[in-house]
Amino acid sequence: MLNAAFKDYSLHPATAAFLARAHGLMIDGRSVAALAGRRRDVFDPASEEAFTTVAEASPEDVDLAVAAARRAFEGDWARVTPSQRGRMLNRMAELIETNGDELAELECLNSGKPLQFCRNVDIFGVADMFRYMAGWATKITGDTHNPSMPGEWHAYTLRQPVGVVGQILPWNFPMNMAAWKIAPALAAGCTIVLKPAEATPLTALRLAELALEAGIPAGVINVVTGKGSVIGDAITNHPGIDKVAFTGSTEVGQHIARNCVSSNLKKVSLELGGKSPVIVFPDADLDAAVAGIAGSIFFHAGQVCAAGSRLYVHEKIYDRVVEAVAAKAAGLKVGPGMLPDHDLGPVISRAQRESVMAYIEKGRAEGAEVLTGGRALGAKGHFVEPTVLAGTGPGMAVHDEEIFGPVLCAMRFGDEDLDAIAARANASPYGLSSSIWTRDLSVAHRLAKRIQSGIVNVNTHTSPDASLPYGGYKQSGWGRERGAEVLDLYTQIKAVAVKLA
Ligand code: NAP
Ligand code: MG
Repeated sequence: MLNAAFKDYSLHPATAAFLARAHGLMIDGRSVAALAGRRRDVFDPASEEAFTTVAEASPEDVDLAVAAARRAFEGDWARVTPSQRGRMLNRMAELIETNGDELAELECLNSGKPLQFCRNVDIFGVADMFRYMAGWATKITGDTHNPSMPGEWHAYTLRQPVGVVGQILPWNFPMNMAAWKIAPALAAGCTIVLKPAEATPLTALRLAELALEAGIPAGVINVVTGKGSVIGDAITNHPGIDKVAFTGSTEVGQHIARNCVSSNLKKVSLELGGKSPVIVFPDADLDAAVAGIAGSIFFHAGQVCAAGSRLYVHEKIYDRVVEAVAAKAAGLKVGPGMLPDHDLGPVISRAQRESVMAYIEKGRAEGAEVLTGGRALGAKGHFVEPTVLAGTGPGMAVHDEEIFGPVLCAMRFGDEDLDAIAARANASPYGLSSSIWTRDLSVAHRLAKRIQSGIVNVNTHTSPDASLPYGGYKQSGWGRERGAEVLDLYTQIKAVAVKLA
């Protein structure tokens, strides 16, 4: 049923209760109205209906949030021990699980992703991120050093929290991205001003409430909802913010980096776009490869920064693999994520659907062959058919640019050497993720070395584990989230040198 209405959904009582509340900004542990009194609608991308409202912040609200975060950083939060921080993060993980039905429904309603994925992928990933980072809270240490300067020395390093951090999120994985940002910042001892995407503010607001329930002091997590062009700029230009962590498009990332530099030279980390290659060799387990290829581009309607959007298949198996992927795409069920048995929900907005459709049209005009899909679906809701294009290559927009929709470009390669294959995979300004499908260990490892991406997967396209660093080469970003490496983003090193004699 493509043309569902919001009233067709059956909501958990906790979800209904949350939606009925008037959502304010979360500042200093309280839900408060925006100073200017403005509110904005929140939409369901499947029915296009507005189903609740949130406060719309202005720069003055950001000032209040930054002041609260600063007070907490220097006050209550500074007195919390690492062990207590770890316990609070573990308690967050438990609360995420106990409130999982509500959080999953809010994520589904707001982002459009099918409910079963919100439950099985998002809730699991979010709780796991808090648990993983809880462990780090007690393990952030410095070193002792042996200086060669004349005299006798005691020298060591302290690893200290960077301070008040501004965190700006995208709409594709609102809750996961919030967890990726909040959990390590808190493990490191920072305080937060968080801006969810305009389209998807709900789960970030709910997480901030759960944080209070977990015993995290007021002012440690502040959430401001509103327009990126207004409060995003207020955050990135704010003299009271020490560091910005951003996930979103490369274009906005460049703008943010400029603001961070020209304001107070605040530190900045960026998780940006991708155009990730998937490379399939003839010796691969082809059934697993076909499932992995389809999953990598059609999961969440392709609105995944690491989506495997450029497929390279060896010519010996090209027809077989690409036909199987196209058949799989044609069999996927598209519809509202809140109704059962859908594999793909809508894309986030009318503008996003138009952008995806414009790419498909441009692809056709530039000579691509549409093997399956290629149409927008339904009278209501921003649905796009899973689409497989052949006959694409460098110089075509569908090949070169991030579409952020369910559109795969399939290409073939021959018996060229690994350097040549890597060169094709690397012919992109992006370098976020990649996957190699082969049973040949030598090919897998040699190609993994040659591919310019922050993540290389072998015989899978996804490796969603909190312990693995995640981030981009080239224009896919600066810095690594997840893993121990993310702590570098939220801490700074101080060298202490003591001249003993
Ligand atoms: P976006 O347009 O860059 O927006 C991301 C966030 O930045 C939103 O909260 C947006 O606010 C805000 N923003 C917009 N203008 C701003 C400004 N001038 N100053 C500060 N913040 C501003 O990206 P998106 O459309 O939400 O997401 C799609 C993109 O994100 C894709 O390119 C995708 O690859 C990338 N992405 C990357 C990762 C990763 O981990 N590398 C993960 C997910 C998504 P508004 O919503 O209010 O406009
Ligand atoms: Mg955008």
